[in-house]
Amino acid sequence: MDFYLRGRTAIVCAASLGLGKACALALGGEGVDLVIAARRPEPLAAAATEIRSKTGAAIAADVTTEEGRRRLLDACPSPDILVNNAGGPPAGDFRKFGREDWIKAIDANMLAPIELIKATIDGMIAREFGRVVNITSHAVKAPIGFLGLSNGARAGLTGFVAGLSRSVAEHNVTINNLLPGTFETDRLKANLEALAKGSGREVGVVTEEILAANPTRRFGRPEEFGAACAFLCSAQASYITGQNLLIDGGAYPGLL
Ligand code: NAP
Repeated sequence: MDFYLRGRTAIVCAASLGLGKACALALGGEGVDLVIAARRPEPLAAAATEIRSKTGAAIAADVTTEEGRRRLLDACPSPDILVNNAGGPPAGDFRKFGREDWIKAIDANMLAPIELIKATIDGMIAREFGRVVNITSHAVKAPIGFLGLSNGARAGLTGFVAGLSRSVAEHNVTINNLLPGTFETDRLKANLEALAKGSGREVGVVTEEILAANPTRRFGRPEEFGAACAFLCSAQASYITGQNLLIDGGAYPGLL
């Protein structure tokens, strides 16, 4: 299926590894011209090489800072597509987190996406095409106790997007959130290790437990996530907006 994305431009944040990179690869495969960002130059350069033909620029930038976002926007001032992403906040007992921890989480997982949307959405409205995809988490749908920082910050972004998406839809600008379940990425490895440490068990035991609880008995593959992102950015997806699409192999047991 042709997604009619050839020649479109996209900013993909936090795209040197994992889910962000998978989104960039999928969009690049559809002929989108990309500007990708991450903080560490080496993995970023490796990702740019892998995505090769379609990476217009790879910007070493921390999207949680104003300066990082400015450099990204200088490289691509009028993107047709914006994929918001950043590292997730640390897991742990909320009693141990202070104001600074909360500000960092809110900066990364709520304010940075909102600032980038603010900087790009009016251009999308004027051009009558825009796609914003925010990578959030399954924990938005089913919050997990030890991910309190993530639950709080991402719920804020989700609420904001719910309102904004309805106010720009008539201009063929859509805003959706993709909620990853458990995908095979570096972040997952770190979470499994934290979970094992926290419960005094082996990583292998914790991993088996999670796999057994998932209806597919496996972790998600980043390319499956990237494909969903590319579809949400397609011309065909113009009637899908304000949604929270959970991609978790059916792990969430609720009816809706
Ligand atoms: P990952 O494999 O650790 O990759 C994170 C990517 O983000 C890297 O490219 C990293 O590069 C970049 N990054 C992190 N902070 C950044 C910042 N401030 N500015 C720019 N780039 C930044 O993580 P992932 O698994 O793909 O996860 C992506 C998001 O989905 C995270 O928010 C995570 O919490 C969420 N999530 C993931 C899962 C899962 O199963 N994988 C489940 C639920 C939610 P640098 O470090 O070089 O900047």
